[in-house]
Amino acid sequence: MVYRRIFDDAISRLKDERRYRVFADLERDADAFPKARWRRDRASVEDVVIWCSNDYLCMGRHPEVISAMKNAAARHGVGSGGTRNISGTNHPLVELEAELADLHGKEAALVFTSGWISNLATISTIGDLLPDCLILSDQLNHNSMIEGIRRSKAQRRIFRHNDLAHLEELLAEAGPERAKLIAFESLYSMNGDIAPIGQIADLARRYNAMTYMDEVHAVGLYGPRGGGIAERDGVMHRIDVIEGTLAKGFGTLGGYIAANEAIIDAVRSYAPSFIFTTALPPAIASAAQTAVRLLKERQGAELRAQHQRQAMLTKHALSAAGLPVMANPSHIVPVLVGDAELCKSATDMLLDRHSIYIQPINYPTVEKGSERLRITPGPLHTDAHIVHLVEALVDVWKSLKLPFVEQPKVVEFKRESVDGRCTFPEFKRAAE
Ligand SMILES: *Cc1c(COP(=O)(O)O)cnc(C)c1O
Repeated sequence: MVYRRIFDDAISRLKDERRYRVFADLERDADAFPKARWRRDRASVEDVVIWCSNDYLCMGRHPEVISAMKNAAARHGVGSGGTRNISGTNHPLVELEAELADLHGKEAALVFTSGWISNLATISTIGDLLPDCLILSDQLNHNSMIEGIRRSKAQRRIFRHNDLAHLEELLAEAGPERAKLIAFESLYSMNGDIAPIGQIADLARRYNAMTYMDEVHAVGLYGPRGGGIAERDGVMHRIDVIEGTLAKGFGTLGGYIAANEAIIDAVRSYAPSFIFTTALPPAIASAAQTAVRLLKERQGAELRAQHQRQAMLTKHALSAAGLPVMANPSHIVPVLVGDAELCKSATDMLLDRHSIYIQPINYPTVEKGSERLRITPGPLHTDAHIVHLVEALVDVWKSLKLPFVEQPKVVEFKRESVDGRCTFPEFKRAAE
């Protein structure tokens, strides 16, 4: 047995399927984000613009967030010193949990080392604690939720994406007596579509089920205080467990759940992936808390409005140029390519020719045939950045002979409308 060859073969298979992933070696520039330096190789360093960051509101470079991290590191040092049970519970972590419970209007919150771990730990623990539990899982749920479900002893059934009728059918089959957990996301990050949260909560009440919702791509970004889509829609109190990340809208690292005290205490006490791993360091907790707090305030509302504005402008401008933007009601701008190889070529060309960094989204993240570019405009992308992006994508589309949309809905795209009062209906809604 030549062990080495097994690994080489595994990698070759990915390369044959054009699924082999290459990481870009980047240095973000905190003072000039979304600009970054890209090391093509040892010899050359080039300036690029990042168009695929999940640091949606650029909180990772916010001066107050940076100083919170520096100050906490200077005061408390850089590590946390252990698991939460063994000296890892530092005061900034306790404060962060209070801030998060308040954000979601829940009795308590619990912080984990990542959003991925939060989903794994919580869903598997709830699935095991509820007797004979049935987990009803949306077809497009994130890998971390699927891992949580797999790890629990609960039975799993999958409902078609955002399909209330199918969910109801499965709930009815299980009957009101059986323990049930509905697991879903508020905003699905690859398509940018949004769940009917209130209606799912209605079904949960009717069939006596618990609800678990991943708000990872919405916390900080939606709602008057950044509580997510559920806050925006006024349904936060109707969801039993809300899960979020500190690494996307809040720009730092870590994940959490917010729920009633009994659920939080049970997960804290039973979940191995919480108990046996070192806690987040105080500097990160302090930075995250600062980001959450700032986004509850007025400047949060302003950042959210600016974020929506740049996202809507990007969508309109790309659509007007005939690029196949996949329609959705959120800040995510997916552009369909439909082929793994072309998707990779398109992103390589964007980087080589136009200094634009967008990661290709291929199988298994999305289905084969729906490979895409996933563009995430932020509040610091200027109108000039957007114009550059459109021109670059048009060039790439022509060079690779990718299809344009036959009759693009022509939307007015004037500088005046950007700088002055906005004329797009979506804009107005976002700004209100
Ligand atoms: C990114 C992501 C997570 C994981 O969050 P991390 O903090 O990055 O580990 C969980 N759920 C969804 C839907 C995600 O996209």
